[in-house]
Amino acid sequence: MRHYSLTAPAKINLHLEILGDRADGYHELVMILQGINLADRIDIKAGSTQDIHLHCEHPDVPLGKENIAYKAAQLMCREYSQSYAQYGGLDITIEKNIPVAAGLAGGSTDAAAVLVGINLLWKLGLTQPELQILANQLGSDIPFCLEGGTALALGRGEELSPLEGLDDVTVILAKHRNLYVSTAWAYQTYRQQYEKTYVEQPETLELGRKQAHSGNLVSAIGQRDYTKIGKLLYNDLEKVVFPSYPDVEALKLAFQEQEGVLGTLMSGSGPTVFTLCSSPTAAKQVVEGVKAKMNDPALEFWITELTSTGIEVT
Ligand code: ATP
Repeated sequence: MRHYSLTAPAKINLHLEILGDRADGYHELVMILQGINLADRIDIKAGSTQDIHLHCEHPDVPLGKENIAYKAAQLMCREYSQSYAQYGGLDITIEKNIPVAAGLAGGSTDAAAVLVGINLLWKLGLTQPELQILANQLGSDIPFCLEGGTALALGRGEELSPLEGLDDVTVILAKHRNLYVSTAWAYQTYRQQYEKTYVEQPETLELGRKQAHSGNLVSAIGQRDYTKIGKLLYNDLEKVVFPSYPDVEALKLAFQEQEGVLGTLMSGSGPTVFTLCSSPTAAKQVVEGVKAKMNDPALEFWITELTSTGIEVT
């Protein structure tokens, strides 16, 4: 029986700027997204019944229709109903290594892997642009998760332009165990507080995009100037998450104080804070410094690298 195993990397946001509202209810964004080596593993094979079965041992991951990976499978079954009838149901196992509800696109990357896996399992021969159209129907970060690497993402995240690949940097991820921030809450709160700054759709959108302060970071990425990149990291959502979750801000400040840090930022809607360092040795020292400063047993740390690949068959 055919069986595919896929690696699904997490992402961090080097830049997240909110320009305004969209007619479809999402926000108009300017983001710079970066894949990292921390990854879930997705195993996918034909099921013994005509249903979709999802397995995951992580207690916070839903196993039914609320799971975005399950929704990805449902979409493929609807779109390619002949193949679904021919090959039978699906058996999908998620090995969860990416922290859940942490601003690292854990669910989105699982969904992207399911699209790739079913494409292979059912021999659909869908091209990357065809997979992108499906990804876009499912959620904002999923198109990026399919591609991976480093990219400028406009719209709600689906208008992707690849950027110069970054590699020579080590990433520390840190978060408080059992602290979750809802992405929907973060954007709603931002809307309530900053709606008056929003650009009009579509009248001033192009201008807003041109004036977005991601430009300097895009140049620094082109030059692979990691010192500049570190200084230019930016996330609008810190403005609403930090006041409600002061521990997240304290964590960022603790990283900023350490020697050897290129830059530090909350990823996505948080609560994960990521920190860029020039080497694994520097990163280990920084983690020790933050542990000593915070003295908080609820803190979790990961040291990882940037990756230029999206979903990969292993
Ligand atoms: P993003 O950065 O895209 O906003 P996130 O990394 O903050 O996402 P996820 O890990 O995707 O957040 O989880 C958000 C919520 O979605 C969780 O509370 C969880 O209940 C639900 N969820 C649905 N599918 C998944 C999945 N495959 N993995 C993890 N969580 C999932």
